[in-house]
Amino acid sequence: MGGVADLEWVAAVDAIRALGPDDEVQLICHVNPDGDALGSMLGFGLGLRRLGVTRLRATFPGRFEVPVPYRELPGSELLVADEDAYRNPALIMIFDVAAESRLGDLVSLLPSAPAVIVLDHHASNTGFGGINLVAPRAAATSVVAEALLSRLGVPLDAEIAECLYVALSTDTGSFKFDLTTPEVHQLAARLIATGISPAEISRRIFDTRPFGAMKLSGEVLGRARLDVTAAGGRGVVWTYATTADLEKYDQKPYVLESLIDPVRSVAEADVAVLVKEMTAGEWAVSLRSKGAVDVSAVAVALGGGGHRLAAGFTGRGTPEEIVQQVKDLLDVNLTK
Ligand code: AMP
Ligand code: MN
Ligand code: MN
Repeated sequence: MGGVADLEWVAAVDAIRALGPDDEVQLICHVNPDGDALGSMLGFGLGLRRLGVTRLRATFPGRFEVPVPYRELPGSELLVADEDAYRNPALIMIFDVAAESRLGDLVSLLPSAPAVIVLDHHASNTGFGGINLVAPRAAATSVVAEALLSRLGVPLDAEIAECLYVALSTDTGSFKFDLTTPEVHQLAARLIATGISPAEISRRIFDTRPFGAMKLSGEVLGRARLDVTAAGGRGVVWTYATTADLEKYDQKPYVLESLIDPVRSVAEADVAVLVKEMTAGEWAVSLRSKGAVDVSAVAVALGGGGHRLAAGFTGRGTPEEIVQQVKDLLDVNLTK
């Protein structure tokens, strides 16, 4: 797999094979976990189970709330709140995390751990693990997870496959995005061959939402604004959602995750921005480009990260101020 040195694969396999029957293993994925974070972590966790690892927990930093679409993932029984993570595990494995800042308080577990393996696919990955399985050309972390399971001799079964399929299909936008290579479809074929139902999984993950979430999306999309002159004339379209919006429709923040998709479909803009209020004055900002602009450069400049065409950061101020910061940086990046 492109980007991962053979030595790193060997070190990862050795570290896992060296585990004793009583050794504790802690799995961690990024804050506000998405389908790839949870799917690759739980899918790999089930694989470790098949290898006989029994002292196994999975967690993510922050509020212990799994987005509704992912609650039925196989392996969910491995999930614990971050304060219940093993304090001194023999091995830590980290999924879909580009930088330690995405680990919250759990970062404190790393220095004393005998082994830390990072599985990721962000070009911006800082290499903070002891063993780094980072494949920037991989469409999802689940691609890396499956490659490691294969090297460990763990066969795919329907439970592992469901987790990895959710991860793969969410991070590729249902096999539509950049990096949807022949290898991605070959992996999908191997996963589907275990007997999982892509139709049932896709309906649950992508095509099911509460009535209130649909109404909320109408309101948020209704206030979108288009600036065709921004980003050097490539155009920026943006909107925002507040905690008050969520309260009005009695919805949880996860329902906002997919809202960037209709925004980025706007023909007149290359760049789409969705500004989501997390707590008072603090916003999770999603950036997307159709291809003309490297939005990860903007996100990194504002303290975040991500991929060339899909990135994010934490913003402060009003949505207008945050979007102005993005536009200013886009102008700088396009003119240099
Ligand atoms: P999202 O817009 O939340 O779907 O995120 C798109 C991409 O940007 C993902 O690959 C995330 O890992 C990355 N990303 C989003 N928010 C942040 C952040 N605050 N810091 C670093 N990376 C982020
Ligand atoms: Mn992710
Ligand atoms: Mn990912």
